[in-house]
Amino acid sequence: MASSSTNDKLKIIDEIIKDYPDLYNPLELYKMILQAQKQIRDDPKKGTIIDWSDESIIEDLQKKVRQFNQPITNFLNPNIFNSKALINTCERIVKAFIEKGLEKKLLDNFLNELFYGKISIHDLVAATLKGDAGYFKDFGERFKVDPALILFIASTLIQPCLEEIAKRIDSSLLEKWWQAPCPICGRRPIVARLKARKRYLICSLCEAEYLTDLFFCVNCGNIDPTTLKFLAPEDYPEFRVDFCEKCKHYLKVIDESKLKKPIPKGFEDIITIDLDIMANELGLKRV
Ligand SMILES: [Zn+2]
Ligand SMILES: [Zn+2]
Repeated sequence: MASSSTNDKLKIIDEIIKDYPDLYNPLELYKMILQAQKQIRDDPKKGTIIDWSDESIIEDLQKKVRQFNQPITNFLNPNIFNSKALINTCERIVKAFIEKGLEKKLLDNFLNELFYGKISIHDLVAATLKGDAGYFKDFGERFKVDPALILFIASTLIQPCLEEIAKRIDSSLLEKWWQAPCPICGRRPIVARLKARKRYLICSLCEAEYLTDLFFCVNCGNIDPTTLKFLAPEDYPEFRVDFCEKCKHYLKVIDESKLKKPIPKGFEDIITIDLDIMANELGLKRV
């Protein structure tokens, strides 16, 4: 293979680091995760047994999304994931986190249980697909680690597959979804892109871009324009923070028409870190 999607993404990160030297640490972490995912990213089946170029598979999933109005992850069978590839990748991800100074002993316990089958990789995938908070809470208590960290690690294992689906999905589905959670993976967005006065929510897990109303809180569903406000940071006309006075949650918005340089897909959240600081100072909460 002359070039891989992973190598392309790694090159993009090096470019971004040049433009945003302050973001070196989060971008290096991003790079580390990409390298750990390389085996499943570069696999055309994305860590599953499915041939994603078979259009009938995506069509069948789309049909279910339309019929039941639920995200695609609700219809993915956890058993399509290749347990060996996922466990290998999980080991790489955990080792990368340990290298960064995270709880070595606790994460080693987690890996051991996964290796010896005490934790079923398919149960872990099933809980990740469903975003099952109870499963990760129990997990966190058992291993004395932050449940969000385990959910994050498990999500990186299915991310290449979800990105592949998001790339292949019919754009009409993304234009007509009109809900806050991602139509592919069900995660709630933290960033949006404004394009020709339309606001597209961006999923940080699968990179799906889907249309939403300009006046709509992605946290509580508020649609009353008098309580939906925005903050514009001085000196950065390309960015703003939309927030809801009712639930005090915010969404970071990138105005494409005002960008001096395009922001590559997948880097929206990292590049707008300053907006989180601004929103937190005002007592607003991340979705
Ligand atoms: Zn998604
Ligand atoms: Zn709200």
